[in-house]
Amino acid sequence: MSQSPIRCTIDLDGPGKQLGHLRVPRSSNTSGWSSLTVPIVSVANGEGPTAVVIGGVHGDEPEGQVAAIKLARELEPKDVTGRVIVIPCLSPEASLAYTRLWPSGANMNRSFPGRPDGPADEQLAHFLSTEVFPRTEVVVDIHSGGRTGLCLPWSEMHWVEDAGQRRRMVDGMLAWNTDWCCVYIDIAGTGLLVGEAERQGKTVISTELGGGGHVTAAIHRLAADGLANVLRHEGVLAGDVVTREELGRQEPTLLMATDEDDYLLAPESGLFETLVDLGQAVEPGQPVGRIHFLERPERPPEVIEARNGGVVCVVRAIATTDQGDNVVVTARVVDRSELD
Ligand SMILES: [Zn+2]
Repeated sequence: MSQSPIRCTIDLDGPGKQLGHLRVPRSSNTSGWSSLTVPIVSVANGEGPTAVVIGGVHGDEPEGQVAAIKLARELEPKDVTGRVIVIPCLSPEASLAYTRLWPSGANMNRSFPGRPDGPADEQLAHFLSTEVFPRTEVVVDIHSGGRTGLCLPWSEMHWVEDAGQRRRMVDGMLAWNTDWCCVYIDIAGTGLLVGEAERQGKTVISTELGGGGHVTAAIHRLAADGLANVLRHEGVLAGDVVTREELGRQEPTLLMATDEDDYLLAPESGLFETLVDLGQAVEPGQPVGRIHFLERPERPPEVIEARNGGVVCVVRAIATTDQGDNVVVTARVVDRSELD
């Protein structure tokens, strides 16, 4: 594997608390010699596991960025056994623009495993794949539905074949203490950050904490409290793991959205009207939304029906819709034993 062109200004193996940057070389119309600067923080103390916490893979998902920057600022070596590496925002220009994609059009979550001689997003992905993930046992990647999707707040995982890795990931997912936990598939391409971390055998914990362009105080609390509990559960952060029982909450509802028919796509472009709300139970064939055609008042709307029964876990958050855009996701409720 070729050497990364990225300069990391901290020693990823060094002790104590270090605040620095990843500097990705670039050249722009306003500066021929420039670098894209991505903050990175490492807090290390003694022997123990290493966890990396990543926010802002997508720029319009502030939940993880806020939780990660608070963690990076507040965390001190005395709180840590092992090492916590925090990258509060992996896509700073997209975050500034409050867009999912980079201004270049790159989707940071389709750029893995990356390459050292590719565009900046792929160089960054390559650095994580070759310099960061190999140093870690635990990879936490915090997402939400962004501006266009509203998700039940949930922690999530891919189904991985290795039973030991899967068990660690299920336990990590449950430690977030969300009311919903979801096993999902990728219907929109490859190159995900979590996919590369899973391929390297890591305990990978991710989330979809709401979305829709607005973050409630409850979601900010869920992001910060869940992240801290996951790090305690993984043995890298001091303090006792908090259980849902201690919080006075019932067992979480476990969801599986692993059938392509769970992901309902717009058959035509138009204005989307949802007929269902998050958490609602639906039957196969039940209308879940309509696409309206504003240029054709005489034309009836196109009705979108659920293919599988289950629970509505995602609803499109903006009405303007292109053909092929996801409008609703349904998931089936499963027992804990199905995840073994
Ligand atoms: Zn995302």
